[in-house]
Amino acid sequence: MSNYVKDFMEEIKAKNPGQPEFHQAVEEVARSLALVLERHPEYRKTKILERIAEPERVILFRVTWMDDAGEVRVNRGYRIQMNSAIGPYKGGLRFHPTVNLGILKFLAFEQVLKNSLTTLPMGGAKGGCDFDAKGKSDNEVMRLCQSFMSELFRHIGPDTDVPAGDIGVGGREIGFLYGQYRKLRNEVTGVLTGKGLDWGGSLIRPEATGYGAVYFAAEMLTTRKQTLAGKTCLVSGSGNVAQYTVEKINQLGGKAVTLSDSNGYVYDPAGINADKLVFVMDLKNVRRGRIKEYSDKFKGVTYTPLTPDMDHNPLWDHKADCAFPSATQNEINAKDAKNLLKNGVYVVAEGANMPTTADGVELFLDAKILFGPGKAANAGGVSTSGLEMSQNSMRMLWSREEVDEKLHQIMRRIHKTCVEAAEAYGTPGNYVNGANIGGFLKVARAMMEQGLV
Ligand code: NAP
Repeated sequence: MSNYVKDFMEEIKAKNPGQPEFHQAVEEVARSLALVLERHPEYRKTKILERIAEPERVILFRVTWMDDAGEVRVNRGYRIQMNSAIGPYKGGLRFHPTVNLGILKFLAFEQVLKNSLTTLPMGGAKGGCDFDAKGKSDNEVMRLCQSFMSELFRHIGPDTDVPAGDIGVGGREIGFLYGQYRKLRNEVTGVLTGKGLDWGGSLIRPEATGYGAVYFAAEMLTTRKQTLAGKTCLVSGSGNVAQYTVEKINQLGGKAVTLSDSNGYVYDPAGINADKLVFVMDLKNVRRGRIKEYSDKFKGVTYTPLTPDMDHNPLWDHKADCAFPSATQNEINAKDAKNLLKNGVYVVAEGANMPTTADGVELFLDAKILFGPGKAANAGGVSTSGLEMSQNSMRMLWSREEVDEKLHQIMRRIHKTCVEAAEAYGTPGNYVNGANIGGFLKVARAMMEQGLV
């Protein structure tokens, strides 16, 4: 590590105590940027990296609501408006009991570079609430969303900040949040993305992150003159990203054999085909049940419970070619990474944000496998959110084929940017450096041109 990066990281840790995920995300980027900062002393002089790591604004607020039993509940809401140099703040809302300031800052920081990579004019943000939706009724979720938006509405707007979904925030939650925004503002605008099709949503937005991650994997495979056809794939999670990752793997002729939730995972050696996926979508999106039910329903499937005390995740210990981590951060540690390599996995496309720990990433890079970091591989979701914003501004609805084609093109462009940036800075094939450098340069140039603000 260069002295500059070392000193920078010491300062980040001292200034942001108790935020290990934020430190992890910033350190990865800082290491990638060491060469850039050497070639561009003007970025060091104007402290671009220091400024990018400091949110432009953090909003933290109380979210009070009443449960069905008449009990008062108090949650905490957040919006991290990280950087708006290249466009309005854009990034998802996460509702999960593990949500805290450090996790949202890591997500917002990564979002800045990811959004820059998409080539669309979007700044970076992230927000959320430490709310646990498990076991809550639709009415309880609605009251939580209304209370959350009763504060957030004054800080967002179609030209200021346009939130979207993330873990725990899907179509249902976006509907409740949007309804409250519309009531308070008396405005019908594209202030959230991931909206319903009848009220401003875009076709392909629900599919976009999963589809995009698979498109990115397919692009990486083309560099070795291969395709996804016939490849066995491990997928984690069973939410939005995981479901559409499986759908696109099937469409491209691959076979997905695993899915998980926070309680356990299923292994289906015959493959999770289109019919089985319909069952998963109903289970997770309508009945809101647990993935274990999949093993009760289909023959030849094993279910393995997962507990927090485990030192590795056995989902990553099956023979396969590709892995699509699509649940949450740090779900692949060094032991998991070793298991994946041992089992023959040579393509990893991160549908989730930062699902691999720093030492896991190191192992993948040393093994020179095709490793697509989340910033690049899962950028299809926010890209299609950008396309939803354009359609809202034009008051138009593009066809499914049109949006899918645009998404595919954007994923190809992101791949090309990563490849070229990695090569230009002397690390060909290193998509981590490629994504970090490619995303950084555009934001840095914009910040330089706009002066000290
Ligand atoms: P989702 O629909 O809420 O699904 C999340 C899945 O991950 C669920 O199966 C959930 O299981 C599991 N999970 C969540 N937290 C977990 C934890 N701490 N430990 C183990 N499993 C956990 O969310 P999603 O939209 O698919 O998001 C998945 C990942 O993709 C996240 O990292 C998110 O930031 C990233 N991402 C999403 C988008 C998007 O457009 N939605 C875009 C880019 C990146 P339980 O049901 O048991 O909690």
